[in-house]
Amino acid sequence: NADLAMYHAKRNPEHRFVFYDGGMRERSGFSLGLESDLRRASGGEEFELHYQPKIDLATDRIIGAEALVRWRHPVRGMVSPAEFIPLAEETGLIWEVGAWTFMEACRQLAAWTQAGVMVPSVSVNLSPRQFQDARLVGFVRSVVESSGIAPDRLELELTEGAMIGDIEKAVTILNDLKDIGVRLSIDDFGTGYSSLAYLKRFPIDTLKIDRSFVRDIVKSSTDPAIVGTIVTLAESLGFDTIAEGVETWEQAARLREQRCNRIQGYLISRPLPPDSFAAFMAGRSQA
Ligand code: C2E
Ligand code: CA
Ligand code: CA
Ligand code: CA
Repeated sequence: NADLAMYHAKRNPEHRFVFYDGGMRERSGFSLGLESDLRRASGGEEFELHYQPKIDLATDRIIGAEALVRWRHPVRGMVSPAEFIPLAEETGLIWEVGAWTFMEACRQLAAWTQAGVMVPSVSVNLSPRQFQDARLVGFVRSVVESSGIAPDRLELELTEGAMIGDIEKAVTILNDLKDIGVRLSIDDFGTGYSSLAYLKRFPIDTLKIDRSFVRDIVKSSTDPAIVGTIVTLAESLGFDTIAEGVETWEQAARLREQRCNRIQGYLISRPLPPDSFAAFMAGRSQA
C-alpha cells in the first residue's frame, strides 16, 4: 500500500495530500489516479481478454466463450473489471476500452479459426453507455466485415439497463445490430427492469439468467420456479437461455430440471487466457 501511495504521489503530485487522507482517498484521490492510468491504458497495451467456456449439457459441447477484459496494471497487478468498467463508463473512456475489446475478440476468434481451434462463437459485453453511443452500429459493422468472421459467431451481451429510457431508440439499435448478423443476448436477466411488453419487441437471441438465481437454486424453494418461469418465457418468445455462475453439479442438475441446458461458470472453467482456453478445448475434444 505504501508503494501504491508512492506510485500515485509520483504520478499525480497534485493529489498527494488526498492520498494520505483515508476517507478522501476512497472517494476521489484513488479514482483520480486510476482514471489517469485508465486513460493511458485504454489503447489496449495493458489489457487482455480471458475467455470462459459456455457449454450445452445436453450435448456436452462447448458452444462458445465469453470474453472478459482484464487490466494488468503495472503497479496494482490485476484490476477487476468490476472496478474499472464503472469508472470507464463515468469518464467516457468506455468507448476506447470497448472498441479495443471488440477488435481483440474478433482478432482472437479469427486467429483460433486459422489455427484450427474451433471455438463456435465469442461474446463480448457492452455497457449501457457503449450501447447508446451513436458510433456503435457503424463500428461493429466495420470490425465484423474486416475480420472476415461469420457475423453469427459474434455475440453482444447487453444488460436491461442499456435498453431502458428510449425504448423505440433501443429497438432501432438492436435491429441495426441484428441486420449486421451478430447475435444479441440480455445479460444478468431478471435483475433489471425488462417489461414483458417490450421484451417481445427486442430482436434478441438469448437470455442469460443471472447468477443470483443460480446461487440459491438448490436451497431456495422459489428460485427453481423463477428459473423455470424465465425459461418458459424465453421459449414462448423464441429465445435461448443460458445460466451464468454455475459452480456445482447440483446447480447444473436443478437447471436442467427447469429445461435450462446451457451453462457457464466455475464448474466448467474459470475465464482463461487464450492459450489455456485453446488447451482446454483440445483436452475436452480428446475426452
Ligand atoms: P458479467 O458479464 O456478469 O460476467 C460474469 C462475471 O462472473 C465475470 O466476472 C466472471 O469471471 C464471473 N464468473 C464466471 N463464472 C462464475 C462462477 O461460477 N462463480 C462466480 N462467483 N463468478 C463467476 P469478471 O470477469 O470479474 O467481470 C465482471 C463484470 O465486468 C462482468 O459481469 C461485466 O459486466 C463486466 N465486464 C467484463 N468484461 C467487460 C468488457 O469487456 N466490457 C464491458 N463493458 N464490461 C465488461
Ligand atoms: Ca456478461
Ligand atoms: Ca452476466
Ligand atoms: Ca451477473
